[in-house]
Amino acid sequence: MAYTYPLAKIGIIGGGQLARMMTFEAKRMGFYVTVLDPTPNSPAAQVADKQIIGDFYDESKLRELVESSDITTYDIEHINTKVLKELEKEGYKIYPSPHILEIIQDKLKQKEVLYKNGIPVPKFHKVETPECLEKFGFPVVQKARKGGYDGRGVVILKDKKDLDRAIKSESYIEEFVDIEKELAVMVARNVNGEIKCYPVVEMIFNEEANICDMVIAPARIEEEIEKKAKEIAIKCVKVLDGVGIFGIEMFLTNDEKILVNEIAPRPHNSGHYTIEACETSQFEQHIRAINNLPLGSTRLLSPAVMVNLLGQGRGKPIIEGLKEALSIPGLSFHFYGKKETRPYRKMGHVTILDENINNAIEKAKKVKGILNIGGE
Ligand code: ADP
Repeated sequence: MAYTYPLAKIGIIGGGQLARMMTFEAKRMGFYVTVLDPTPNSPAAQVADKQIIGDFYDESKLRELVESSDITTYDIEHINTKVLKELEKEGYKIYPSPHILEIIQDKLKQKEVLYKNGIPVPKFHKVETPECLEKFGFPVVQKARKGGYDGRGVVILKDKKDLDRAIKSESYIEEFVDIEKELAVMVARNVNGEIKCYPVVEMIFNEEANICDMVIAPARIEEEIEKKAKEIAIKCVKVLDGVGIFGIEMFLTNDEKILVNEIAPRPHNSGHYTIEACETSQFEQHIRAINNLPLGSTRLLSPAVMVNLLGQGRGKPIIEGLKEALSIPGLSFHFYGKKETRPYRKMGHVTILDENINNAIEKAKKVKGILNIGGE
């Protein structure tokens, strides 16, 4: 089959950094990109051909985007699935399917689907009454079923005294897992069912904000655990019948078990390192997968560490320490083009390549001390 230019029209719901990095790749390959986002000149719109300004729940704007695109995808989970399901039924191509999105939007439903399909997950239970929390025993992790992200909507209740901090909205509870490491694996699947899996990485969290601030690739784990983690990740995407790229977050427990925490049906923060460190980046892979093109090699070219640049102040972003950071060999700097910063807002990231992973980690720690995104 021959292609004409543009190869196809891609619509992206959400214009944040993930959409921006997808758009860079899509444009490089010759696609036409339209982005839907409520913020004018959003990070992705700065790179795309066109932006539709509108909310992710606005039926008419979603319709406008999908009807004017050959293929629609998204960079955010909190969007209107009802209208997307209707559009899919009408024959429009939306990947990953809004049916998958609906499962993932409800963390309890997501856990139930994984559990029913034999994927290892922490023990969990629906909260029907406040007594459920106590009956499960402490410590316990309570999670909002819908709307949570980056640690919002998750509370760890250590004992009865913590019950006043309990989530009031619809929620479920999980056993508190003794976590040795938090791992993640990116998996891509195209429309034909071809699957490619990326290396297993370690996610290091900022304890205060419960937000990922460093990713180490490859994870410093035994080969057997790596193999198991990849097998589980691939199974997750098969179970969902997913098309596109998926981030599978997992816990490696102190007794060497792997439990799936959650799935992101989109490019993921833990896969940013693939831009410099893998033969095919997660963003290009996603574009290939949703257009049913052959998937690229996921081979790791070099060990890498990614550090998120989280906002510290408020207002117009001020980047401090850039020259010093860029003098570190193997460092790449990414800035997402957000006009305003806030504490812990993801403003950019850096990736450091080094043949020696420990050196890369040392350099990453140094960068954290040098590079700051303050506010004016
Ligand atoms: P979010 O979607 O907001 O990132 P997660 O469900 O990933 O929420 O939880 C955020 C963090 O809370 C996890 O990365 C992990 O550090 C901790 N956490 C979540 N579930 C558990 C659990 N069952 N046991 C122990 N810690 C947990």
